[in-house]
Amino acid sequence: MIHLLVNATVLTLDASLPVAQALAVKDGRIVEVGGTDEVLWLREDDYELIDLEGRTVVPGFVDPHNHFSIGAFETLWADCRGARSVADVQQTLAVAARETPAGAWVRAVGYDHTALGAHPTRGDLDAAVPDRPALLMHFSHHQCVVNSRALAAAGITRGTRDPAGGEIARDKSGEPTGLLFERAMSGLETASREAWEARFTEVARAASRRYAAHGITAIQDAAVTPAMARRYAQARAAGALAIDVSEVMVGSRGWFERPDDAAPGTLKVFVDGGYRCAMRLMRDGVPRTSGFLFYTREELTALLLTAWRAGRHVVCHAIGNLGIETAVGAIEDGLRAMPDGRARVRIDHAIFLTSELIARIAELGIWVVVQPSFLWDSRAPSGGRAPDPAIRQRPFASALRAGISQAFSSDFPCGSNAPLAGIAAAVTRTSRRGHVAAPEEAISVSAALEAYTLGAARAAGIDAVAGSLEAGKRADLLVLSANPLECPATRLASIQVLETWTKGLRSNPP
Ligand SMILES: [Zn+2]
Repeated sequence: MIHLLVNATVLTLDASLPVAQALAVKDGRIVEVGGTDEVLWLREDDYELIDLEGRTVVPGFVDPHNHFSIGAFETLWADCRGARSVADVQQTLAVAARETPAGAWVRAVGYDHTALGAHPTRGDLDAAVPDRPALLMHFSHHQCVVNSRALAAAGITRGTRDPAGGEIARDKSGEPTGLLFERAMSGLETASREAWEARFTEVARAASRRYAAHGITAIQDAAVTPAMARRYAQARAAGALAIDVSEVMVGSRGWFERPDDAAPGTLKVFVDGGYRCAMRLMRDGVPRTSGFLFYTREELTALLLTAWRAGRHVVCHAIGNLGIETAVGAIEDGLRAMPDGRARVRIDHAIFLTSELIARIAELGIWVVVQPSFLWDSRAPSGGRAPDPAIRQRPFASALRAGISQAFSSDFPCGSNAPLAGIAAAVTRTSRRGHVAAPEEAISVSAALEAYTLGAARAAGIDAVAGSLEAGKRADLLVLSANPLECPATRLASIQVLETWTKGLRSNPP
């Protein structure tokens, strides 16, 4: 059957025909984009005519940095995002423990130590879950608190040394408090998921439909272990994924570890930490460094060259200015040895930038994948820490002016999943709570729309089939309740996705 979508405002993201009125879809592909009369000519014996009555059609959103295989499970796990005290956390965990199947770790997500006044301790968790391992993930996903059973399962005692790139928090007597940072939590996080991962097909089916409802038609899962890659294969075979997912691989020992045994495909390399990213700050005129840096520039260069020689793409997670500087330096060195690596490396996050780093990234000519979702979700009135006047946070406009290829993503579940909220935040620099951060870094709606469609598809390497509405590409498209280019910026986040078409299949019909 051919589907003729007519009388619309089609924002194609195709420079040769930016706005059209109609398009035709057949066998999952776009076969024509143009005027309503032109498209009506394509009527066949078996056809569906859809009069969109002036509504707006845009390409499906592409999210090149999304943690689908983490977020999908969160509906099964206890939610501590709303917890305002340690007692709240304990109550939630105790309920979760009763609902957790035998053999599985009790999992909870999303606690914010600033809202609780402190990090919970292993003792706090033991009081709620005394008899089995429990892991409570921080909202950053780069630190967690575990109970005594979990520490025992991982063999962590007062005699255990901090791993390189991680920290085991300890009380005054030297006893682990249960709070673990970065590489210190790798093994426990992996173990805590094992029993739950068998349910991936079931949770992925539901999660992918939620993504489609937000208008997301393609993602890259930004950290997939070899075990999860096998789960993805099962979910695909079962037809459970309503959106297009490609995997960015990490090794079996945890997200932040060296990806030595990662399955084939694009590699993820964590250059620095998350909540405690690697920063270089001036304090009283003296440079000081802080946070976790997992590689030296030389180590990272070697890792890039090994990956490139094997034909692999590499996604470098780098958040702090020192983390970004390390990634940029390693990519510069790597490209001197292998210039064709340029198309096979990108930097994700790039939150704390300086003018010098912006210029060097622009010179590299690589994709940078940033998250306007963090602006939307920001809890701080200024949009976050302002550690040093020379450092700018998420300077989206400066990056574009410098010529950086900048794509948007959500980092869900670390950031909000809805692309229209991210677009609103990039355009208004205003959080959902009404806080404004660096308004001079606001970008236009059209630039934001491009960064979440065509730009994101290019960063993900799928622009031959997605990211714009052109004949021959996949019919990944959305019908919106308003035209983002014409509605007031303050209303962008409330635009509704009325229909999502993924490879020509329509979901959430009106
Ligand atoms: Zn991430």
